[in-house]
Amino acid sequence: MTRRIVLLGPPGAGKGTQAARVSTDFAIPHISTGDLFRVEIAAGSELGMKAKGFMDAGDLVPDEIVLDMLSARISEPDVASGFLLDGFPRTAAQAEALESRFEGGAIDLAVLLEVEEEELVTRLSGRWVCSNPKCSGVFHVVYSPPIVEGICDACGAALVQRNDDKPEAIRRRLEEYASKTSAVIDFYEARGELVRVDSSGSVEDVAGRIESAIDNAIPA
Ligand code: ADP
Ligand code: AMP
Repeated sequence: MTRRIVLLGPPGAGKGTQAARVSTDFAIPHISTGDLFRVEIAAGSELGMKAKGFMDAGDLVPDEIVLDMLSARISEPDVASGFLLDGFPRTAAQAEALESRFEGGAIDLAVLLEVEEEELVTRLSGRWVCSNPKCSGVFHVVYSPPIVEGICDACGAALVQRNDDKPEAIRRRLEEYASKTSAVIDFYEARGELVRVDSSGSVEDVAGRIESAIDNAIPA
């Protein structure tokens, strides 16, 4: 069966962490626009160079750039089984553009991960990610440490801190979320497609809540 799901939530809510599990458990591709940009930046492509300045500052990348990239990704054959979008849409215009790609509704469910702002800052400040841009490994110095310090459990590459996990960029990303991405929550709520999930507590507890929400909304 096809499942098209959007994972929403502020930076640090746990979208990437949870998306890796949901993608495996429901056998749908995990599509993170942030990861796609980081692959482009690592490759030194023109697209990557256009996005880098916005990302490092904690600003959203302009809609046209994001939409071209996302549109190409969701044209790939693996999307026939559905998809799990992480970090997209982030503006009302992006949500509308996604709708225009599918007849009869683009998505089955939008899952909003909710966490207190203080906890978001703690999570982002201690985040370490895999330096291999194709890996998506994500760790936390206290909450999810890797088995070997500084090394990714999944692929063995070195772990690094993201340029945008510095205090000034974290503050800016939280502002961007409040000012632009809240409209995306309203968009899916008005369509009756939004479910809110408490993303505090352990990674396992949150995963259980998300999987129940998906099973309830999109029965197999
Ligand atoms: P997002 O993709 O929403 O920005 P991440 O999945 O990258 O968030 O998580 C941000 C940080 O918080 C990472 O360091 C991750 O290891 C950690 N984290 C994720 N979920 C939890 C949780 N339930 N409890 C504690 N830390 C978490
Ligand atoms: P993320 O990996 O989801 O935390 O995204 C990191 C950064 O990539 C964001 O702060 C934005 O600069 C950029 N980005 C990722 N996805 C989008 C999007 N859908 N719209 C605009 N900018 C995005």
